[in-house]
Amino acid sequence: MQKALNHSNFMDGVKRRNPGEPEFHQAVSEVARDLIPFVKTRPEYEDAQILERLTEPDRIISFRVAWQDDQCNTRVNRGFRVQFNDAIGPYKGGLRFHRDLNLSVLKFLGFEQIFKNSLTGLALGAAKGGANFNPRGKSDNEIMRFCQAFMIELYRYIGPDIDIPAGDLNVGNREIAFLFGQYKRLTHRFNGALTGKSLSLGGSHLRPEATGYGCAYFMKHMLNHRNDSLDGKTCAVSGAGNVALHCAEKLIDLGARVVSLSDSNGTLYVKNGLDRESLDLIKAAKLNRKKPLSALADELKLQYQAGQKPWALPCDLAFPCATENELDGQDAKALVDNGCQAIAEGANMPLTADAQEIIEQARLLYAPGKAANAGGVAVSSLEMSQNTTGLYWSVEEVEHRLEAIMEHIHLECLCQGDGKNYVDYARGANIAAFIKVADAMLAYGVV
Ligand code: NDP
Repeated sequence: MQKALNHSNFMDGVKRRNPGEPEFHQAVSEVARDLIPFVKTRPEYEDAQILERLTEPDRIISFRVAWQDDQCNTRVNRGFRVQFNDAIGPYKGGLRFHRDLNLSVLKFLGFEQIFKNSLTGLALGAAKGGANFNPRGKSDNEIMRFCQAFMIELYRYIGPDIDIPAGDLNVGNREIAFLFGQYKRLTHRFNGALTGKSLSLGGSHLRPEATGYGCAYFMKHMLNHRNDSLDGKTCAVSGAGNVALHCAEKLIDLGARVVSLSDSNGTLYVKNGLDRESLDLIKAAKLNRKKPLSALADELKLQYQAGQKPWALPCDLAFPCATENELDGQDAKALVDNGCQAIAEGANMPLTADAQEIIEQARLLYAPGKAANAGGVAVSSLEMSQNTTGLYWSVEEVEHRLEAIMEHIHLECLCQGDGKNYVDYARGANIAAFIKVADAMLAYGVV
């Protein structure tokens, strides 16, 4: 006999089937908390075991990547692609290169991607991939050889209507160009099998900016919904990569005051707010991987707090834009104590489970990554459309579409998450995203 569906039984099963994968358990648990009570009101979902099927990837591809470094030593890494769910469109999601990358992280990211992609309202399934490759200290030639070796295997599993990877941590324009060059050579095809390409390779305007800009727009909508605005708000931003820098840029343009950026070594603190000129200099140096944040702080005569995170700084709004689990319970408490009103996640799952609980209990506005950072995948989808039609849109056209998509996501979250006095955006995002995917899965029958 089947056990009654409740959070504890469900998570016991997930943990048994996926041992030693804490990040994946954390992501599923957060979603299950909202979805299980909802599914119990819809027997058709429970009968068809939609939740059990949704937490099992369609397939996981794992492969050896052998390459040579500049000294002609042979190096071996492991490549992955987790194709999680293609119920509403071809697989779509980024590639991450990180020394510690493992299946737990990739499954959490792929699982989150199902919900994120569904929320955009676009026809996008979900996947995630990458390699346990550490790009730190590698030369351009080594990065190129690694990317080419990685693609020698990956190309068999991707294509413009099968699976369309993009970038993620440590996979930017440079890596996407190396990957696409090799894909083109192997398949003899110039098509939209990868997004995040630079403009000259068929990319879209604003793809690099999209995740960060979208995150700032999402916060704008949350504040507007409660008759407030970004104007003059003090914002703590973490990270100094693609997402953080563009989020900071849009916040400044929308009238907010950005008081921090950070990296894995510490926090840049600018009490009166970063000006656009300093941000542009930091952006140029960071996005070209030229200098650490501490060196830039010295050059710009700004304060750098080594070993510190930004969350103890007084702020109205917080934007964790660096990496998973970067903001823990203690940080959440500091934010609440300092009067922070709202959090929008630029990164994927940047809050630990206890941080999330503290934020929810304190009734801060909380935009989960699957809603707030969906701008990146949304513009990737616009890149796919442009590649298919061969017609390319202006910066203004793409930004207009990005803004409209972020507004749509905000409305989707409101529909399912609007309580009497408090909008539960996490619940709204989980349920709205789930309905679309679950209905498609029901329609296919048992597959
Ligand atoms: P980048 O590699 O461009 O930048 C990551 C930044 O985070 C770097 O400044 C890095 O500093 C910092 N960082 C990494 N680990 C830590 C840590 N443990 N503590 C503090 N800072 C850290 O990545 P992206 O900006 O592209 O991605 C950031 C996050 O956003 C990730 O969670 C990613 O999955 C998510 N995301 C990205 C999207 C995109 O379009 N790029 C789309 C949706 C989500 P350092 O240089 O010192 O390592």
